[in-house]
Amino acid sequence: MSENAPAHHIAHSREERHPLAKAPVTAPPNTVDGFVKQFLDNLNFGQGVALSASGVNDQYLALARTVRDYLMARWLETVRRQLVSQAKGVCYLSAEYLLGRQLGNSLLATGLEDVAAEALAECGIDIADLRAQEVEPGLGNGGLGRLAACFIDSLATMSVPSIGYGIRYEYGIFRQTFEDGQQVEKPDRWLSMGSPWEFPHPEAAQTISFGGRTEQYDDDGVTRTRWIPDWDVLAIPYNYMVPGYLNGRVNTLRLWSAQATKAFDLRIFNAGDYAEAVRAQTFAENISKVLYPEDSTPQGKELRLQQQYFFAAASIADFLDVVLPPDYDLTKLPDRAIFQLNDTHPVIAVPELMRQLVDVRGLEWEQAWEITQGCFAYTCHTLLPEALEVWSVDLLGRLLPRHLEIIYRINEEFLAAVRERYGDDELRVRNMSIIGEHPERSVRMAHLATVASVKVNGVAELHSQLLREKVLHDFHEFYPGKFTNVTNGITPRRFLRLANKSLSELITDALGPGWVTDLDRLRELETYAEDPEFRERFAEVKASNKRRLNRVLLERDGLEVDDTHMLDVMVKRLHEYKRQMLKLLHIVTLYDGIVSGRVPISEVTPRTFIFGAKAAPGYRIAKDIIHLINKVGSVVNADPAVEGRLKVLFPPNYNVTLAERIIPAADLSEQISLAGKEASGTGNMKFALNGALTIGTDDGANVEIRQLVGDDHFFLFGMTEPEVEELAAKGYVPSDFYRADPNLRSAIDLIASGAFSGGDRSVFEPVISNLLYNDRFMVLADYAAYIAAQERVDAAYADADTWTRSAILNVARCGFFSSDRSMRDYIDRIWHTPPSF
Ligand SMILES: *Cc1c(COP(=O)(O)O)cnc(C)c1O
Repeated sequence: MSENAPAHHIAHSREERHPLAKAPVTAPPNTVDGFVKQFLDNLNFGQGVALSASGVNDQYLALARTVRDYLMARWLETVRRQLVSQAKGVCYLSAEYLLGRQLGNSLLATGLEDVAAEALAECGIDIADLRAQEVEPGLGNGGLGRLAACFIDSLATMSVPSIGYGIRYEYGIFRQTFEDGQQVEKPDRWLSMGSPWEFPHPEAAQTISFGGRTEQYDDDGVTRTRWIPDWDVLAIPYNYMVPGYLNGRVNTLRLWSAQATKAFDLRIFNAGDYAEAVRAQTFAENISKVLYPEDSTPQGKELRLQQQYFFAAASIADFLDVVLPPDYDLTKLPDRAIFQLNDTHPVIAVPELMRQLVDVRGLEWEQAWEITQGCFAYTCHTLLPEALEVWSVDLLGRLLPRHLEIIYRINEEFLAAVRERYGDDELRVRNMSIIGEHPERSVRMAHLATVASVKVNGVAELHSQLLREKVLHDFHEFYPGKFTNVTNGITPRRFLRLANKSLSELITDALGPGWVTDLDRLRELETYAEDPEFRERFAEVKASNKRRLNRVLLERDGLEVDDTHMLDVMVKRLHEYKRQMLKLLHIVTLYDGIVSGRVPISEVTPRTFIFGAKAAPGYRIAKDIIHLINKVGSVVNADPAVEGRLKVLFPPNYNVTLAERIIPAADLSEQISLAGKEASGTGNMKFALNGALTIGTDDGANVEIRQLVGDDHFFLFGMTEPEVEELAAKGYVPSDFYRADPNLRSAIDLIASGAFSGGDRSVFEPVISNLLYNDRFMVLADYAAYIAAQERVDAAYADADTWTRSAILNVARCGFFSSDRSMRDYIDRIWHTPPSF
């Protein structure tokens, strides 16, 4: 145990000392008067201002603290019960948590929405103004981080003992702005206005070491290894509440923040170099300074490995030292904890647990390895080979010399087993090795994770199948039964109940309130789809969500949504494989058709297109595509020839808060990645559950959405994954498609002519040549099928009532995509951690 006794443990002894300390903490009364009093107390005593003198931020902070006060008794009780029961629990390790705003979700989880609104109204405050004040913690890039946030919500709601571990980045994902249509990144200062949702615990800090060397020593006749690092940092835990929905449970999310150790700067300070001491401190604290945008360039790679080890090691040490009781029999660890690796970012936790068990706690290697292999499970999130993480042996050995030795030994024993099974099939051995040799000697983190884990899962049926058959095929053969699927999910609390209050009320009117934690019950809406009155109410919900979006975008960005238009939405990270270019070519084709006179304007369905997307700052072509979308938007929106029938909106800085506004208003959901490239997608699920129809390829979870909602209520197009493979094998020549299709040629020529860049043909030349001569994701090959599918969309949309019926059936049939179901699958197939109250 660390010398700073953690708060968890001293609690028991303190209770003996003062009788009052034994009394459970009680929540304030659940009444409007009680809430008013608590709010004013927090404003006066917490913020140090009177109501009359308070600003919106003071009021927001006081409101946040008030809601927190209601959660506190439940949190302390949850922590206490978990310590007493020592039931098996999940440690979810994720480098990202894209949480979204906390206030609304906390009000929802406590059932205080109405009480709080009334209480504030009595103080002359509109609660909506305070909710708008919250800056969301953007501690993730996109889908992967949002998934982690949905999962911890479900675990709390399902009363599963669990703790989320991650990094408290001082700067989360950058804030995106546009200057002349180009993305400009601004720092995300999410902490600058105060952060009422976190609880720092410097007394429970862990020391995390780096660098140095290893040496062997004799320990009573046994040769052991010790690591002599040459620098270290403190990892300070910040605890966040993760409230379950109306179930009186509050789990913990523990995010680590880096701080310089005393030893670190004292040495230099004593030498009299003040500037150097400050520099050293900055160096240490850099570790949790920024979230790396995915796909960013190698610069800063070392810092990224530091981040990974920093949070993985702090989390493992925290669990062993603080969460487990003293003198715990570590051979039982697999019955007490499962460490779920959210992609490869935390995989360095594997050699770290080995180091803890063998070097620090003196276990035999074999025993430690058996324990370790029982404690980890790995979720793979990609199919793109370039996204499989590797670390050069050179870098890893310099930063974590002991861990590299451990990895080598794990690999040696693993490859010996492979050879025993397959004889001298050296090609297979090379392919499976944890160490790759090209282009440089490096550690393949996915292989390490696979070897160490109880189970490896993909995130949608198709993805898991491709993992087994392609990406990790040799491993599947070697470890049959290790691979499984858990299709991703989204939390219905945030993405339905909170984001779409009017649809939720409609559903509750029909089914009662139980559906929020039992999303399969949405099936019962199928019969309502046949009820004309229900359809009318559903259509009115959609219309009101469009009006709300219009208000939001007008205030936020000065953008106007035409709420009589079909709302056609593509929001997600900008990446070539997701194919925003395909969507853009559809828009240019429509525009081109009108202005060239080939298509009478009366035949064009009025549509407003909404894009939302951040591009990684170092990803050139993605940034060019953003620029092009904005430029096409400026021209189309200003051209009287289209009579406002086409409108292209691109609100900047897509994030969870904006998603909660856009998705409930959408009619059409664009899920158009090249088949075999999108592992799952979760945006697709959010749209379907909010009653948008999907136009999509047979990719990721689209496959399962279509199977559930039925072909009549889903617009499928494009090549299948085997067809993509076939075309690639045959040799894909994008320019052949350009030449063969006059509409496509005309659209591309229009862009190339400078029509969207003030006549300058050079601006979008890189985008055009990338399409014509490279087109890795086969945009041109799927173009014709996409345009044809969009024509089917138009035809279907023309019959509003039938469209609404399809939308209702999408909602009714997508209950499967609740993250509660994902959690049940993880529990049944991987974790074996029953709920515990
Ligand atoms: C759901 C979500 C994503 C993931 O969207 P995909 O379409 O699955 O890529 C990304 N960002 C935010 C803010 C989200 O809410």
